[in-house]
Amino acid sequence: NADTAMYHAKEQGRNNIQYFTEALNVAAGERLTVERELRVAIEEGQLAVHYQPQLEPDADPLARPYAMEALVRWHHPQRGLLAAGYFIPIAEESGLIHVIGEWVLNEACRRFGEWKEAGMGPRRIAVNLSAHQLRNPALIDTVSAVLRRYGMKDNELELEVTETVAMRDPGRAVETLQALRGLGVALAIDDFGTGHSSLAYLKRLPIQTLKLDREFVRDIETDENDAAISAATLALAHELGLRVVAEGIETEGQSRFLQAHGCDLLQGYFYGRPEPAEVWTARWSEGESAELRRTRNHNA
Ligand code: C2E
Ligand code: MG
Ligand code: MG
Ligand code: MG
Repeated sequence: NADTAMYHAKEQGRNNIQYFTEALNVAAGERLTVERELRVAIEEGQLAVHYQPQLEPDADPLARPYAMEALVRWHHPQRGLLAAGYFIPIAEESGLIHVIGEWVLNEACRRFGEWKEAGMGPRRIAVNLSAHQLRNPALIDTVSAVLRRYGMKDNELELEVTETVAMRDPGRAVETLQALRGLGVALAIDDFGTGHSSLAYLKRLPIQTLKLDREFVRDIETDENDAAISAATLALAHELGLRVVAEGIETEGQSRFLQAHGCDLLQGYFYGRPEPAEVWTARWSEGESAELRRTRNHNA
């Protein structure tokens, strides 16, 4: 929930990111201003990619994570650091999403390669793809070029598409997703549970992962319906051979519930906020030296 996120950002006193609700609360006039500013942002390099970990249960939060999700940010000259929720909808409406999306994809894969070469970082990198990008006929060539550019192996890149994207034009979406899968890209359905698709329909898509929406995770400990939906989703997804990532985990209790129901990967502020790549690089290096000290002391 955007209010919670904003509250947390303030409370923690870090980053000071601005979050907005999904239905962007921006008047038409301001939308045009944002669009104009966004064009400048792209040209002047004001965009950045932050990364949030997806961890296996019982994983050491300082060790190499299973995956990192790339989330685009905008260093706005006046407003400060803006989260994706603020400008991605405007980028989609204006068509700027294509150039932004390609830039993020390239930057995330470049970073992944850098981490890999340094022997640190995640085993895979997850990048969000919006409906507009999925409908772009140039997408397959773009993705294929990036994979080649950074020598990425099968399943090292995962693309996240929302449930509604796959539903809107099922035939065409299936075709595009199959082409991506053919390139060795792993595919995840993002925000699962907020759309209207059935798991039976999802079975027809060449996907490997479901991301349980944080809408269900938030009150999982107190709301019986959310608990039931989450548990049922996990059970059915596993029946269909899909892996489940829970998003938006903010408390230990939420994490415990999800783990008790076999959730495969955990993501949320409780495990780590989206942060610049350098922050993670430093953290993993610290984790490694701590581990070295531990084993050295142990062997001494
Ligand atoms: P998403 O892919 O579902 O990403 C999760 C959103 O929830 C992110 O917001 C993230 O910062 C936030 N989040 C993560 N953990 C927690 C938590 O524990 N609590 C709360 N309250 N929030 C959490 P963000 O970065 O504003 O992104 C919003 C959406 O914008 C994303 O939803 C994704 O659909 C889209 N997006 C982000 N980056 C990109 C991009 O590079 N390309 C495209 N096409 N879409 C993007
Ligand atoms: Mg996502
Ligand atoms: Mg999501
Ligand atoms: Mg979401």
